[in-house]
Formats: sequence, structure tokens, C-alpha cells
Amino acid sequence: MSDLYLKFVNTPFGKTAAQSLGLPSPVPLRRQDGPGESLPTGDVLLGAANGGKAVKEVGSLLAGTDASLHHADSVETLVDSAGAGQQSRPVDLTAEISQSFEALVFDATGIKDTRELRALYDFFHPTIRKLGRNGRVLVIGLDPGNCRKPAQAASQRALEGFVRSVAKEIGKKGATANLIWMASTAARQLDSTVRFFLSSRSAYVSGQCVRIGKSAGTVTVDNQARPLDGKVALVTGASRGIGESIAEVLARDGATVIALDIPAAKEDLEKVAKRIGGEALACDITDDKAPKTIADFVEKGYDGLDMIIHNAGITRDKTLGNMPEHFWDMAIAVNLTAEELINDALLERELLRENSRIVCVSSISGIAGNFGQTNYATSKCGVIGYVEALAPQLKNGMTINAVAPGFIETQMTAAMPLTIREAGRRMNSLSQGGLPVDVAETIAWYCSPASTGVNGNTVRVCGQSLIGR
Ligand code: NAD
Repeated sequence: MSDLYLKFVNTPFGKTAAQSLGLPSPVPLRRQDGPGESLPTGDVLLGAANGGKAVKEVGSLLAGTDASLHHADSVETLVDSAGAGQQSRPVDLTAEISQSFEALVFDATGIKDTRELRALYDFFHPTIRKLGRNGRVLVIGLDPGNCRKPAQAASQRALEGFVRSVAKEIGKKGATANLIWMASTAARQLDSTVRFFLSSRSAYVSGQCVRIGKSAGTVTVDNQARPLDGKVALVTGASRGIGESIAEVLARDGATVIALDIPAAKEDLEKVAKRIGGEALACDITDDKAPKTIADFVEKGYDGLDMIIHNAGITRDKTLGNMPEHFWDMAIAVNLTAEELINDALLERELLRENSRIVCVSSISGIAGNFGQTNYATSKCGVIGYVEALAPQLKNGMTINAVAPGFIETQMTAAMPLTIREAGRRMNSLSQGGLPVDVAETIAWYCSPASTGVNGNTVRVCGQSLIGR
């Protein structure tokens, strides 16, 4: 369903009307247009606190893009040692800054105590107003869970409050702010995550903290336009909505996609599969035989999978006292139990290949809870628990992560009453709903072969919804 208000406030008359009435003026988000990368091509400013562990990696990554790289003059030596000195121009943060920036990237990994948090202010205070529309703020810190000294853990944890607040301040520009917490030896695992958060693929992801751990090896992607070339993905609930978009984006990135949905959706499913050059599998994931049917299908046709995306989901809303038992049972069975049983079958039969990806679709209802959704929220919160528990057990570079969408423009949200729909759309830092492709792009980032250090995360795709944390 199209957001008419968003269109209206971006006309000259609508803009004036919204301003005079004090109404929100959401900025249209810039999204990935077709295959390929969508990293900044304008000015990007890089800074770091003393002793930054990530600035070299990020400097050399950015030096290899079309961005026009600048660095705070305090990090000159580090940028030089990254081999990016030739391409990068120093900026004196104490002087008047004339240009605007597409992205501000700050390596905060060197902050060891709370006084050193001042480095955030020194970098962002003179530059934040220079961030352009649809701009990106990215802060890289150390995972506080791995910091032994309380002062260091406090200062690294503090980054979360900082980034979430910045995200709220810049959302009106259609800009986002996110935080990466890396393990101290994980700088080489940053690549795919830095690319994602600086690109327009993360248009509707803001105020999020992602943990990157060290992994057995570093995988590099040679063809950034088709990082999933030669890989096989299975997407459940792929006949429409978010699942259809996931299937399209994974195919765009090079994967062969098995699109799965219930037999009743076979006609639409086959159309999706045909359009993306994939294959349709009509199967109800709650059927007792579904794990075996899926495993047999994968084994016979492909000899294994590189990605499985558990997207199929249902809502059966009723307040708890009014909820019939089959509403409860169905929501738990589709949204949670089926995922576990299918994974068990695939893992047991070793049909998930080395460096494969499991992605589950949760919901912000599972994080915040929602009136009339005890069953749905239970299932979607269970998904997060499942991801966190399975992540450390996976071997061979395999990862499992979740996305938690907020208000996404689909048939599900189009069916909401008008006032609830409008509230859902506006109650986030970007003052608009997301699109299915925003969820799909986030999943594609998890699926990148280079995302091998990204494991056990739940990232919200919600424009920093005011609901939940
Ligand atoms: P949708 O209803 O449009 O699509 C869900 C798909 O899952 C359908 O094609 C359906 O046939 C399929 N499905 C349902 N039960 C199945 C079963 N037993 N076996 C196989 N397939 C089955 O919903 P959507 O909005 O595209 O949502 C996709 C996922 O995102 C769901 O898990 C949903 O809970 C989650 N989500 C959506 C939103 C949103 O705003 N739309 C927000 C948060 C989370």
C-alpha cells in the first residue's frame, strides 16, 4: 500500500502545510536500485579515538570505493598506514567546515575509559550538522561483553546510548546511525557490515547495535555485485510480501532460490520462482513430514543449501482471554517450531554447507510485546532465543541471525485499521513505514559469504521504531 502522506509532504504545498501544522515531514529514503553496490559516492569523513583498532581496515575499504574520503587530521598516521593517505584529505575539526558529508564513520574501539568518551563529542559536534539527507553515521566499538575492565566496558556500552540518540536526531533527514561492536581481533570481519551500513541497502535500519565476533577465517567477496553467485537459498513464505522480496534480492545477488509456500499459494509461488529463475516447492512447513520433504528436495536437486531463510509467518490476533487454542497452537507451530524442526533435519543430514547462513524472521512485537498478540509475540521472541542459543553451537563458518521487522508496507499491514496503520507508520525516527525490500536487503547482508563473523544477532528493520528497545 502506498504512503500517500509521504508523497504529499514532499510536494512544495505539502511541505509548507506540514511545517505550519507541526506535522512530521518524512524524507523519501534512497534505496538500492538494481544489482551492485550502493556505497556513498560523495564525501565521507573518517575519525577515530586514540588507539582505534578498526580505522585501518575501514580506511582501506573506503579508499577502494568511489567515495571522496576525508579524515579527521588526528588520524592522519593511521589513514596513511592503511594505504589510504593518498586518496584521503585531512579535515581540521576545530576550524569552520564548509562541505557536507554523505557519511560520518568513527572508530571508537580505542576508548578505554569514560573520560575518553569526549572523543565522540569532538568528532561529531562540528560535523553532525554537515550530514546530508539520507546520510549515514557509523560508530565502531568493542563488544562490552568482552571488556574486562569496568571503565572500558562502561565506555563501550555508552556508545549504544550515543548512537541511538544520534539516530533520533538525524532521522528527520532520512539519515541513519548504527553501531558495530566488534571482538578485539575481528577488524578483518568488518567488511560486509561496514558496506551494508554505509549503503542505501540499510535505508530502514537505524539505531541498531550489531556484534561481530572473530571467526575461523576471513572470506572475501570478489564480485560485490553478485556476492551469492553459485549459492543455493531456500526461502519460506516466498509467494508474496516480504518472502517474495527476499527471494528476489537473493536471486539478484546471484543465488539460485528455492521458493517455498503452502500448496494453496502454489500459483503465485510458481510465478515468483519463474521470474527469478528459481524453483517452487509447495509445502506446509507445519506438516509432520515437512522437514523430511524439504531435506529430500534439497538433497535430490541441489545436494545441499547455502542459505535457509525462515520467513513464513502468521498472525492470529486475539486478547489472551478470548483466544481459541488453535490460534495459539498455529502461531507457535508456524512461527517457531517449524523452523527448529527444519533446521534439525538439515543439520542432521549435513545439508547445510560450509559457511552457510540460517536467517529467521522475528518481529518487534516479539521484543516489545503487543496488545492482542500474546501468541505471535511469544513465537517471535522465541525466535530470538533460538538464534542466540544456536549461534555458538554452529560449526564450519555457519551463522544464524534474525531480523525483527517493524512496520513494513505489506498486505498484512494494509489490512490494519487506518488509525493504527498511520500510527505504526509514523512512530519511528524516519516517520514512515519500511518496504519488504528493506528486510530483504538486511537478510542479504547476513547471507554474504563475508558476514562470517556476524552470528547470533537480531537486527531490527524498523526505522528505529519507538516501540521496544
Ligand atoms: P504475508 O502474510 O504476506 O506472507 C507470509 C507468507 O508465509 C505467506 O505467503 C504464507 O502463505 C506463508 N505461510 C504461512 N504459513 C505457512 C506454512 N504453514 N507453510 C508455508 N508457508 C506459510 O506476511 P509478510 O508481511 O510478508 O510477513 C513475512 C514475515 O515477516 C512473517 O514471519 C511476519 O511475521 C514477519 N513480519 C512482518 C511484518 C510486517 O509489517 N509485514 C512485521 C514484523 C514481522
